[in-house]
Amino acid sequence: MSFRILRSSILLVFFFFAVTPVFSAERLRDLSMPLPADLRTFTKIRILVEQDRPKIQVSAPAVFEVLDDQGRVVTNGPKLNGATVRPVDKGIQWWTRIVPTRFLVVRSIGSGIRVGSKGVYRDEVFIYKNAKGKLDVVNRLKLDDYLKGVIPFEGNPAWALESLKAQAVVSRTFALTRMIAREKEEYDVSSGVISQVYAGKEIENAKTNEAVDATRGEILLYKGKIFPAYFHSTCGGATTAADLVWKVKPHPALSGVECKFCQKSPHYKWEAVVTSAEIKEKLAKEGMPVDGVLGIRTDKIDRTGRAHQFVIQSTWAEKRVDADGFRVWIDPMRLKSNMITKIRANDAGAFVFKGKGWGHGVGMCQYGMKYLGELGYGYREILSYYYPGAQASRLKELEG
Ligand SMILES: [Zn+2]
Repeated sequence: MSFRILRSSILLVFFFFAVTPVFSAERLRDLSMPLPADLRTFTKIRILVEQDRPKIQVSAPAVFEVLDDQGRVVTNGPKLNGATVRPVDKGIQWWTRIVPTRFLVVRSIGSGIRVGSKGVYRDEVFIYKNAKGKLDVVNRLKLDDYLKGVIPFEGNPAWALESLKAQAVVSRTFALTRMIAREKEEYDVSSGVISQVYAGKEIENAKTNEAVDATRGEILLYKGKIFPAYFHSTCGGATTAADLVWKVKPHPALSGVECKFCQKSPHYKWEAVVTSAEIKEKLAKEGMPVDGVLGIRTDKIDRTGRAHQFVIQSTWAEKRVDADGFRVWIDPMRLKSNMITKIRANDAGAFVFKGKGWGHGVGMCQYGMKYLGELGYGYREILSYYYPGAQASRLKELEG
């Protein structure tokens, strides 16, 4: 997968898992979270790497051990050659042996644990029998090792070191909020794309590793509490407030700032052509049929210039749709943001959307942060600019 495609996929995945669209009918969520009493249990992250498999093959080139859900040793040895694991009525079958357990833990030192043909994972692999009677595989590894595999893609090794350090603190903070919120679940991060990203050690990079190491144990706090440090590619001139985008309580560190620093981003201005047939088809798929699309305009425009509704004029009626939903349904890779500057019909009867920025617009603008790093700003200055009132704090217990 090329860097560009992979990066786009990650942004897309990030968009899906980070965003609860404003149209969902839930109470206003508080983004502020108190820090857990013992942070030492949060130095390892759990990533879902396989889901709903009828069987899997596991191997390890070095010393290994396999434990059941009571911590009892099922087997161990100097090397593991392709064990086949299957879910069975009474538990999990390891080669020919049936182990009455909800999950197995495979541990190996050194070269990692190979699961199927796809990935080699560090430290520990949990194999769960799920509610459907299939296997889910979860890798548990040090949070900073995970970050070393993710930052080369969430950022770019060509960026200034201070920018990469800002990204490392933001990614660590964001991951930790997921870990705290999902403590009772089987895994913290569920993305297949993200798990592939860190799966190979070859994607690690000396400079991004340096950024992770230099910020060891550092997360963003606002008045002593953690919050999801959202970020996006390009704001297009101003970041926006989390409470304008999602059903959340206003948060001072996610209230939006002016940003003149992302003008060199390739996504600063964009144009997308969408035919009325495509709009009709995609809205119908979402259970919102329109009998034709005669025109489109934006509405509910916030103080940063982002629209929160699209108004679709069809033959018989006007239909109002949530702007975030509309972008996702049509194509978030083409309709890159809700900061729409113009919509016009072209001669072929399609609609030309002109807009600025890429992403939801909440939190740090990555292209702005990249430029501030080039200008010589330190990562803590960059972070306090995009997250007003928040501070990067080093927590010893998190250092692992
Ligand atoms: Zn910006």
